[in-house]
Amino acid sequence: MVITYTPSGLFIGGHHVPGSGRSFHVDNPADGQIIATVSDGDATDAAHAVEAAAAAATGWARTSPRRRSEILYTAFELMLRNRRELAELIVAENGKCVADADAEITYAAEYLRWFAEEAVRNDGTYTHAPGGGTRSIVHRQPIGIAALVTPWNYPAAMVTRKIGPALAAGCTVVLKPAAETPLTALRLAKILSEAGVPDGVVNVVPTTDPAAVVSTWLQDPRVRKLSFTGSTPVGRLLLHQAADRVVNASMELGGNAPFIVTRDADLDHAVAGAMVAKFRNSGQACTAANRFYIHEDVASQFAARFADRVSGLRVGPASDPDNQIGPLINAEAVSTITDLVDNTVHHGARIAARATCGIDSRNGYFYPPTVLVDVRADADIIGHEIFGPVAPIVTWNDERTLLDYVNNSEAGLAAYIYAGELQHALRLGESIQAGMIGINRGLISDPAAPFGGMKQSGLGREGGHEGLHDYTETQYLSVDWP
Ligand code: NAD
Repeated sequence: MVITYTPSGLFIGGHHVPGSGRSFHVDNPADGQIIATVSDGDATDAAHAVEAAAAAATGWARTSPRRRSEILYTAFELMLRNRRELAELIVAENGKCVADADAEITYAAEYLRWFAEEAVRNDGTYTHAPGGGTRSIVHRQPIGIAALVTPWNYPAAMVTRKIGPALAAGCTVVLKPAAETPLTALRLAKILSEAGVPDGVVNVVPTTDPAAVVSTWLQDPRVRKLSFTGSTPVGRLLLHQAADRVVNASMELGGNAPFIVTRDADLDHAVAGAMVAKFRNSGQACTAANRFYIHEDVASQFAARFADRVSGLRVGPASDPDNQIGPLINAEAVSTITDLVDNTVHHGARIAARATCGIDSRNGYFYPPTVLVDVRADADIIGHEIFGPVAPIVTWNDERTLLDYVNNSEAGLAAYIYAGELQHALRLGESIQAGMIGINRGLISDPAAPFGGMKQSGLGREGGHEGLHDYTETQYLSVDWP
């Protein structure tokens, strides 16, 4: 995969800067080849990024909401104009198939459009105090410099989902993308700059030492916000660090989404939804369906139709645009999933389908899409975020047991329900401890809706109206009116 964009440094103060002088390689997970060499930020670079964000903070906070909105809208248009180049970057550094990369650009750009629209709707209130006399004015101010930390699985969308609302609210940002996928984030910073974002408002520091960079930010008194997307263990660690200076923290963490099919569901529709919920991005999505709970009366029919679709999936590098399932992010992911599946089979499960994967996993980190049946409800794989193209099926026959299975998890990000009656689906949905529920749908992510999890899947919401609020501080002015 040839890429035309080769960033020459970190992105600080509106320019590429060399930083510490060290660098690291970015490889293509489809073949392990090095595609770029990127500057490796350290604690000093992290401090420079905060300096730049601080220098730009007052000007950006005072920029009119309308102007901030126009700039974000221009960035949305520029993303779409450059969609091919951006999709190629995502394919090269993340490995996802062309259709997934292209869909991510649309999804990522939509966050900029949505928050361009939200920038001018940062409403407050003006009320009479209940006892009369005084008036209460409540408004939202930009919270301050925001430290953003993003994962590798959506190199563009996780960046715009944070930068969009931060900039709309009037905050400046320092961003640390995952070391696996720094190129898309650097390119997006450039696009935002081309769209009119002033120097220093957006700063990007790729690094192989995330702890040094992020802890530098969290110790700086000018940084007032942390927004993290990634695994629950790292999120927990950062919450501890944020507590030292009581930094406002938003956490988008790991999931373990159940996919439920009731006895009266439309099975073809459910299978189509399962393909999307499970195999988008090769299963490497926090919202990916992780465990399938199918009513026992329809389980064998569902499994047969699902297995048929899965066996036909085309696995391979994105250099063939017809391939639907790309590689996993690294060799460790292949080995973890191999162990999980082997262990499940060892404990009595059966492989009902496995797509053909013509590529040796030593030449790219591929794992064949797999459907497992006869899986025990307490199997290891059920409690584990698989993060790959494997679908374990458990059967159920009474709803109380089903809800026990579903809610017996510390994760509570997403869930999917396929049911014949909407009323039934809504009742089930309200009983499930998850922040987002897809009803007769396998795709729930939407910039206009609040994205986030319950329990250990996170704190706060991104997108929707809530997304903007996460980057604001509420201030109340009590006004005497003699
Ligand atoms: P990860 O936690 O390993 O890494 C996420 C980010 O944290 C990366 O930028 C990484 O460099 C950084 N990081 C790692 N250790 C750090 C440390 N000690 N200090 C500071 N930063 C550190 O997660 P990942 O493997 O990149 O992503 C996969 C995970 O992310 C999955 O669990 C997935 O469910 C979750 N995820 C959640 C959402 C959501 O919206 N809830 C979205 C995408 C991914």
